[in-house]
Amino acid sequence: MPKPKFAVYWAASCGGCEIAFLDIREKILDFDAAADLVFCPCLLDTKYKDVEAMADGEIDVTLFNGGIRNEENLHIAKLLRQKSKVLVAFGSCAFEGCIPGLANLTTKSEILDYVYRKSPSVEPGNTTFPQTVTETPAGRLTLPDLFEVLRPLDHVVDVDYRMPGCPPVAEQIWAVAEAALTGKLPPKGALVGVNPKTVCDECKRTKEEKKIKAFRRPHLVDPRDIDPVKCLLEQGIICNGPAIHAGCGALCPQVNLGCRGCYGPADGIQDVGAKLAGAIASIIDSDDPAEIQAVADQIVDPVGTFYRFGLAGSLVGRRIRS
Ligand code: SF4
Ligand code: SF4
Repeated sequence: MPKPKFAVYWAASCGGCEIAFLDIREKILDFDAAADLVFCPCLLDTKYKDVEAMADGEIDVTLFNGGIRNEENLHIAKLLRQKSKVLVAFGSCAFEGCIPGLANLTTKSEILDYVYRKSPSVEPGNTTFPQTVTETPAGRLTLPDLFEVLRPLDHVVDVDYRMPGCPPVAEQIWAVAEAALTGKLPPKGALVGVNPKTVCDECKRTKEEKKIKAFRRPHLVDPRDIDPVKCLLEQGIICNGPAIHAGCGALCPQVNLGCRGCYGPADGIQDVGAKLAGAIASIIDSDDPAEIQAVADQIVDPVGTFYRFGLAGSLVGRRIRS
């Protein structure tokens, strides 16, 4: 019997999800024995034209990581949707935009202007600026055009499963791969590679009443001043654990770092940033509006704190006013 065909693709992302796939270690041998990897540009020299030549639905499972930032990302998203029986938004970038989605706070022209004209690393007098078409003596060169904003995968094609994590942890990757190989994936539309409830539920730190007088930025806190047992949020260190989906085993709080939110919103939360902002504001220990404002002002980057992974997939999704 032929082995199921898998594809792994990387659009607008850092590539960490592919590396995370290798974190399954010796299980990669089981995967290789059970499946044929037919398309994975960071490992194989398969060309786009080879995928275009495949029959519709020929690939059994595609793990697609990365958001949709340019015309090439969109073309391949549509192509892999057409050629795949099962398409998984694999990792935070494909799921909800992740760090590249923070570029939605600016515009395409502002990005290009900074990178090619104003950045300190640009040589004075530089006139090089990317063009979508350049004629050269050797022939025509083309570059995919950037879109105005980055979009999560399910904003442009139908997605069968969404798997959060920046990157997803190896145990969850193997669990999803094994379910896909054995035909045990849940009904279409499910979030996969997660555990029930929230990061707080997986976190072993003690939780009491959350009431705080001040926030402390992690890089300004001496680690010796952090209680290794008590909830970080109760110590004034912002932790997004209460609103973030469980699945990583509460990795960050184990090492004195507040959860940043890479596993995305917990069930029932429509807009993770709005939920987190409300939850964090509610624990400020004061009835005085001026004092509450002063404490809230200690959060120097609210969007980066509460929408670090989910801005592109949020209700607003981008900057709407300058
Ligand atoms: S440290 Fe974070 S994840 Fe752990 S209990 Fe406190 S808020 Fe929740
Ligand atoms: S604790 Fe939060 S930021 Fe850290 S890996 Fe888990 S979900 Fe991601």
